[in-house]
Amino acid sequence: MEARDPIHVIGGGMAGSEAAWQLARAGVPVVLHEMRPVVGTFAHRGAGLAELVCSNSFRSDDDEQNAVGLLHWEMRQADGLIIGTADRHSLPAGSALAIDREPFSAAITATLEAHPLVAIDRAEVAGLPPADWGSVIVATGPLTSPALAAAIRELTDESALAFFDAIAPIVHFESIDLSKAWFQSRYDKGETEAERTAYLNCPMDRDQYEAFVEALIAAEKTEFKDWERDTPYFEGCLPIEVMAERGRDTLRFGPLKPVGLTNPHAPDRKPHAVVQLRRDNALGTLYNIVGFQTKMRHGAQVEVFRTIPGLENAAFARLGGIHRNTFLNAPRLLDDRLRLRADPRLRFAGQITGVEGYVESAAMGLLAGRLAAADRLGHRLDPPPATTAAAATATAPTPTAPRPTSPPGWRRRRRPPDLRGRRRLPTCGA
Ligand SMILES: Cc1cc2nc3c(=O)[nH]c(=O)nc-3n(C[C@H](O)[C@H](O)[C@H](O)COP(=O)(O)OP(=O)(O)OC[C@H]3O[C@@H](n4cnc5c(N)ncnc54)[C@H](O)[C@@H]3O)c2cc1C
Repeated sequence: MEARDPIHVIGGGMAGSEAAWQLARAGVPVVLHEMRPVVGTFAHRGAGLAELVCSNSFRSDDDEQNAVGLLHWEMRQADGLIIGTADRHSLPAGSALAIDREPFSAAITATLEAHPLVAIDRAEVAGLPPADWGSVIVATGPLTSPALAAAIRELTDESALAFFDAIAPIVHFESIDLSKAWFQSRYDKGETEAERTAYLNCPMDRDQYEAFVEALIAAEKTEFKDWERDTPYFEGCLPIEVMAERGRDTLRFGPLKPVGLTNPHAPDRKPHAVVQLRRDNALGTLYNIVGFQTKMRHGAQVEVFRTIPGLENAAFARLGGIHRNTFLNAPRLLDDRLRLRADPRLRFAGQITGVEGYVESAAMGLLAGRLAAADRLGHRLDPPPATTAAAATATAPTPTAPRPTSPPGWRRRRRPPDLRGRRRLPTCGA
């Protein structure tokens, strides 16, 4: 293979955009194949690269106490495009890193389009990549197009691994009743006034909460097809009605917990439960309902969610939904450089490797991009040491001891937390 041959990255989502950036900044030409807007997916809405399909949160930004925050830190050290752009388009959200999604995606698209070593091909790769693509990163995500998914399945000789995931609704701010709802981040977290007031809260008393739980359980749900019935849910992002079915108080101890909040409309009355909405854009015109991913039918969602005090007249910019995720059995199929053992010219990155979430997927894109660049340039680059959050996140085999030649972004932390076995952190919450 010629040194100037491009590396092909399939999928311009969180992982593919990051991988393309890492290759280009290392001096390696890239062709980034993104099927949108020619072919769409159930969840993506536009043509922009790195689109956030549901929540606008990269979750905790606390790199001392939180695993995802530590991953943010490592990606910043490694000059990550996704995290750097997220920082420039962040919204107040207490200790979380929330993002103004459209300018974020537009900035990633513009950066990659402007890079002289990046060519963007807007077309579906509808089968295995052609044999003359000598090095490929497959980063097609949980909604990999059916033709490519089938080809990968055939090549890996695996029956599909899948789980169900769901998406939360978004409400127009102007339709929320502020005589009942109030602005406050839990425990008033945040350094600025904007961060301390990043959430809108809707209080429920005991009767309202009990009736709400009943309505969730009784509501009409989307039916699964026969072949989907044995597919499990992703535990970090359960539909709200599934949580309700697990116990009367499950929601009160989950996304509707009433702690760390004081209702200024009734400061002496402690709410029994609180529904939180998080700002979804910089203008503050949209709010997503935190933890309200659901598979209820659309009509039922409108009816049930309008029983929440403050949302009686809610106008929905988007309703919730459910989708099936497909991923590889990475520990068995991939080597520690994220290459397919059966065909090492194919490297995998992002959610298709079995990680879950925007941040984890981008981190795997960063790793795949750097490893592919090093291989192409003949540089030695070991996978990240076991003490990093990146290694803990990777589903492919990772080393068991720190190695001396890792790049700065993977260097060992002073107080490395033990993150092994904790890969599935919630992706839907704050
Ligand atoms: C409905 C839904 C809700 C979610 N909610 C959250 C959430 O709240 N928080 C969170 O952190 N994560 C959430 N996730 C997970 C998150 O979206 C993923 O972890 C992350 O986007 C995965 O990054 P990726 O790059 O692997 O895939 P994606 O970001 O999905 O990017 C894959 C890209 O590949 C393209 N593509 C697919 N097939 C082909 C092909 N054959 N040829 C060319 N292009 C192709 C797609 O168009 C897409 O742009 C959700 C996912 C879904 C589907």
